[in-house]
Amino acid sequence: MNRAELLYNCTLCPRECGVDRTKEKGFCGESADIRIARYGRHMWEEPPISGSRGAGTVFFCGCSLKCVYCQNSEISQFGKGYVINVSELADIFLELQDKGVHNIDLVTPTHFVPQILDALDMVKGRLTIPVIYNCGGYEKTDTIKMLKGYVDIFMPDIKYYDSVVSARLSKAGDYFEKAVRAVRLMADIAGKPVTDDNGIMKSGVIVRHLVLPNHRKDSIRLIEKLGENFSPDEILISLMNQFTPTKRCELYNEINRRTTTFEYNSVLKAVSACGFDGFMQDRRSAKEEYIPQFFNDKKVTITQND
Ligand code: SF4
Repeated sequence: MNRAELLYNCTLCPRECGVDRTKEKGFCGESADIRIARYGRHMWEEPPISGSRGAGTVFFCGCSLKCVYCQNSEISQFGKGYVINVSELADIFLELQDKGVHNIDLVTPTHFVPQILDALDMVKGRLTIPVIYNCGGYEKTDTIKMLKGYVDIFMPDIKYYDSVVSARLSKAGDYFEKAVRAVRLMADIAGKPVTDDNGIMKSGVIVRHLVLPNHRKDSIRLIEKLGENFSPDEILISLMNQFTPTKRCELYNEINRRTTTFEYNSVLKAVSACGFDGFMQDRRSAKEEYIPQFFNDKKVTITQND
């Protein structure tokens, strides 16, 4: 089966909608057209990813999760963005590399994997910087297997342990079981984290986790489960503290506030107890100014890029 055919009966993510994306959209909200809402240099990823020259991010539209607190919901759930073709995506990769960024950072790429791999094939031999798969963690191992030889760094965001919580906040009751299996495979594919002499990441896995208000016990259980499934040198943990309630959180009272320092620190303690190394996030970065601006038009994106 060639890659394009995967879109005729799409089962790329655990939703397994089975829709023909050349004719209709799946749960992720996307058809077979590649849609993005921004690309450019991004300085706000983890230090070994953004370094001094930035990550070369491409923000894809749509998402197979429906997180009620998503900071990027205008593109992940509400349609903002514009269509590009495979060769335009390949050109974007090269344009970003020419800007001197450290890597190509594919943000929410899962439902466009076939087209992304076609674009990476087009730039084979010319794209020399690492490629990052920066995803929400809700992944199928069959799709992750396709990335071997194309992706150097995996950056899954692992959100919940409890299935009741994941069903309520992201409409994915099977979230943790799918995520932990996918991260296991990511670590097998990418190997232990490797950085260059300047501390810039070349390969490996960074597991991100955003601490939610009133959910520290779920976060601690999740970290402990990671401790059971991974040795401390296999993955890095990035513990994020930037939760900012969105308007929709008014309907989800339990998360309608910021995470406290106590909550964050108690999860941090669990990370240390499991022996994981990684990154902490400064609470000050929990500001809306760090949410990038998204676009409906390629020409605007280009003029806004540095
Ligand atoms: S990628 Fe989209 S269409 Fe395909 S299975 Fe997932 S949600 Fe459904």
